[in-house]
Amino acid sequence: MTEAKWDLTQLVDSTDPQKIIKELDHMVDTSTRLAERYRGRIADLDAKGVLELLETLDALALRYEGVLMYCQMLYSADTTDATAKLLNDVVMKTSTKARQHLAFVDIDLAKLLQKSPSLVDDPTLSEFKHSLERQLRKAPHLLSESEERLIMIKDQNGVHSWSQLQREWLSTRTFSLNVDGEERTLPYGQVIGFYSNPDRALRLAANKEVYGRLGQDEMIWSSAIRAICDDHVHTSSLRGFDSPLGQSLLSNDVEREHIEALMATIKKNTGVYRHYLRIKAKLMGLEKLANWDIVAPLPDAMDKVYPWEDAREIVVSAYTGFDKQVGHWVEEMYVRRHLDGEIRKGKVSGAFCQDWYNGKSAYVLQSFNGRLDDLYTQAHEQGHAVHAYLSSRAQRPSNCALSMCIAECGSIFGELLLTDKLLSEAKDDKERQAVLCQVLDGFGMAAFQVSARYFFEWSMYDTIAKGGFLDGEMVASLWTKARDDIYGDAVYWLPEMRWEWTMKMHYYITGLRFYNYPYVFAQLFVFALYRLYKEQGAAFAPKVKALLAAGSSRSAADLAKEFGFDIAKEEFWQKGIAQAEEFISQLERTL
Ligand SMILES: [Zn+2]
Repeated sequence: MTEAKWDLTQLVDSTDPQKIIKELDHMVDTSTRLAERYRGRIADLDAKGVLELLETLDALALRYEGVLMYCQMLYSADTTDATAKLLNDVVMKTSTKARQHLAFVDIDLAKLLQKSPSLVDDPTLSEFKHSLERQLRKAPHLLSESEERLIMIKDQNGVHSWSQLQREWLSTRTFSLNVDGEERTLPYGQVIGFYSNPDRALRLAANKEVYGRLGQDEMIWSSAIRAICDDHVHTSSLRGFDSPLGQSLLSNDVEREHIEALMATIKKNTGVYRHYLRIKAKLMGLEKLANWDIVAPLPDAMDKVYPWEDAREIVVSAYTGFDKQVGHWVEEMYVRRHLDGEIRKGKVSGAFCQDWYNGKSAYVLQSFNGRLDDLYTQAHEQGHAVHAYLSSRAQRPSNCALSMCIAECGSIFGELLLTDKLLSEAKDDKERQAVLCQVLDGFGMAAFQVSARYFFEWSMYDTIAKGGFLDGEMVASLWTKARDDIYGDAVYWLPEMRWEWTMKMHYYITGLRFYNYPYVFAQLFVFALYRLYKEQGAAFAPKVKALLAAGSSRSAADLAKEFGFDIAKEEFWQKGIAQAEEFISQLERTL
């Protein structure tokens, strides 16, 4: 599978580590000089001056894009390689230094915009309009430079340390599992692989062992989550947000009413998800699903294995069926060797797509086992790449900083194109069931399971507001309540699953409260778009391309308007649910 290994040398002029380190030091020097040039001067800039500043910042980002990507991706490809480790470490240190030098720019620019808001609409700055609008919206919540610096130090040694402890604690636990008569001791990263094992008893054993074991350390986890939530409540109030949700609304470029309409739709439609879970139970020959069955493969799902070459052909053809140019770009990703599918020791787990603005392309990493879900991951990551191809051709670099709600649009749409293709070529009902369950399992997790996390997070802040204390038992009871509101009686849960919140890294990440709802947003948003695509066919393709090409130059609400949608209305989100219902009825027809 040599062609399934990426070629990172395209990113840099030289792969000599010494030259790369020199280049990174140069990045720090450049940002120091830039800081000297602008310190104390931003307040007096006119529109032309602001344009020059923003263009300079864009140029700085582009100048070092390749070398930064090279180091980070070299490390992702093999975390045990000494050179990769060294370069990754140098990147982290030099990037932090460069960021610190320029930390005042955002604050001063925000102050300038508050003083002269007409700059946002100045024709000289038209290309930066939406990013300036976002800066202006952020402005009232920024503190003074010295307070912002104090917050950075506080976070580094506070929230960040807790989240690091959570990560390291999790990755250093070991779990015992009897596999085929052999008692094995496994690290977390490996034992979770058994959650999707075809052997039901093994799935149960893995869940019981992991969550039982994590529950024993509940004091560590609850101390971390309590400190992080409490810190967030105080910081939000210092920054003048009216709720713990405020910060995330700014960074996701959405309004509270959008998220409330979205979540109200989810609450109203838990019955749709539960109905699917009952069908899945039937397909698995069970009275009722247990938590270890929710995303498990169907017992006689196709044992089909997709060789790399076949996966390539299927994914390219799925995208080509949508649009020739898009299909050509997806093909180009393979030709230019921008995908890394090979399974190697030391490679990071999971999958990602990294945009490459200078190359008007992207890079994708996954560990490709040839299973149906690997095929879906490939189509998903290629959708991110398509997003990068389109936005980097249409937008300035600073308009390609996608908010999380928009970032998953290309990828989820790509998964649906793959679904279309696989369903149209399925030979029998068994194949159709495997594909539909793959899609609906993913949809259920992203739209409903993730919503439980959103309601759970709210309930922790509510508890703090009422003077409650978040010890392990309290957090566990809040989690099971949020979970049961979604799942009702459609699933049996092991008692140990009340510790499920302990391992979710997202609850502990610095500055990322309410990490979860953008996934719900994207899932329903794209399902709604896909419904329109099915209704309108080829005429709809240019509209989807235009949405992706907009990058971050417009808000999600604004982009949805192009399609005649109002994302503050439940009616819009219900269209996404309707598409899921359509898949569910297709599945019912195979019973
Ligand atoms: Zn994604």
